[in-house]
Amino acid sequence: ATDGRVFNFAAGPATLPAKVLKEAQADLFNWKGSGMSIMEVSHRGKEFLSIIQKAEADFRELLKIPENYEVLFLQGGATTQFSAIPLNLCKPDDVVDFIVSGSWSDKAYKEAQKYCKPNLAWSGKSEKYTRLPTESEIKLTPGAKYVHICANETIHGVEFKEYPKVGEDTILVADVSSNFCSKPIDVSKFGIIYGGVQKNIGPAGVAIVIIRKDLLGNAQPQTPVMLDYKIHADNNSLYNTPPCFTIYVCGLVFADLLAQGGLEAVEKNNIEKADILYDAIDSSNGFFNCPVEKSVRSCMNVPFTMATPDLEAAFIKEAAANGMVQLKGHRSVGGVRASIYNAMPKAGVEKLVSLMKSFQAKQSS
Ligand code: PLP
Repeated sequence: ATDGRVFNFAAGPATLPAKVLKEAQADLFNWKGSGMSIMEVSHRGKEFLSIIQKAEADFRELLKIPENYEVLFLQGGATTQFSAIPLNLCKPDDVVDFIVSGSWSDKAYKEAQKYCKPNLAWSGKSEKYTRLPTESEIKLTPGAKYVHICANETIHGVEFKEYPKVGEDTILVADVSSNFCSKPIDVSKFGIIYGGVQKNIGPAGVAIVIIRKDLLGNAQPQTPVMLDYKIHADNNSLYNTPPCFTIYVCGLVFADLLAQGGLEAVEKNNIEKADILYDAIDSSNGFFNCPVEKSVRSCMNVPFTMATPDLEAAFIKEAAANGMVQLKGHRSVGGVRASIYNAMPKAGVEKLVSLMKSFQAKQSS
C-alpha cells in the first residue's frame, strides 16, 4: 500500500495500522528515552504499570464497559478460554447451551464437553454455516448456566447483528475474537465477552476477557491457576509475567481507535468497506458469489467463491502480484476470503474490487 507494504487480507494475525507499527518500531529500540526496549522494561516497574493501566482505561472507554466488569489480559489465545469459561462458570454436571454457527463455536462446544454438559441449542452445520437461527429455532435449556455464541465466525463469515435474547438470569457468553472493537457492543447484556487480540487489536499472545464481577470465584477445584479468572482479576492481570509487548501494542491501537472517534466511527468505516466488497460480489452476475445470507454477512471476513472454481487460484495469484495478499479461503472451505479488519484501509478494498472487475472482464472477453 505505502512504504513498500502490501494490503494484507489475512484472517489473523492480521494487519495493524501503519502508524502503530511505526511507533512500536521506535519504542522497540529505545522506549521514551529510557535506554531500554519496550520489551525489556520490567512488568513490575512503574513504566509497564502505566502502560497496562492506560490500555485498560482506553479499552473501557472504547467499549463503555460498566464498573461491575473486570477486564483481564490473559495468555493462551481465545482457544484457552474455550476451556477456562466452563471451568470458571460451571460444575461438571451443569448444562450450558451452545449456538454453533461455524467452526469456532463448534470448537468451543467440543472443548466444553470436557468440563460440563453442553447442549446444542442450534447448529448451522447442515447448511454449511451460511445463516444464523431465528429466535424460535434456538432450543435453550431451562436453567442452563450460560449460552455461548461466536459473535463473528471468522471462517464462514457469519456475524450476529443482534444477539439472541436469553432469560434475565441466563448468562450470555460471546467469542468476539474476529470482530472485537469493530463496532460498539452493549457489554451489560453479557456475562463474558472474550477474544484473541490478533485481528483488530494487536499481535498474537493475548486474549482479553471482560467478565461480570459476580461470576468470579466459583472455578472448579482442579482449574489450573493460569485459567482461574479470579486469580487474574485479583492480580490485575499481573499474576505472572504478562505478554508485555503485546499489551503495549494493544494500548497503542486503543488510543488510535479513540482518536478515530471511538467505535461508532470505526463501525461506520467498516460497514462502508464491507458494502463496497459485497456490492461488487452481488453485482458480478454470479461470477463471484457469497454463500452467506445477506442479513448476517460479516463486516470483517468476506468469503466468496467463483463460478469457475478453477479460476480461484489464478485470481489469488494475480491479487498477490498486485500487492494484495493472503486471500485464500480457509483450508476447510476453500474459495477466497478477504478479511477487512479495522486496519484495512478503504483503499485496500477498492483496489481489490477493481481487480475483481478487471479479472472478470478479462475472462468474459
Ligand atoms: N475464535 C474465533 C472466532 C477465531 O477466529 C479464532 C482464531 O482465529 C479463535 C477463536 C482462536 O483464537 P486463538 O488462536 O487466539 O486461540
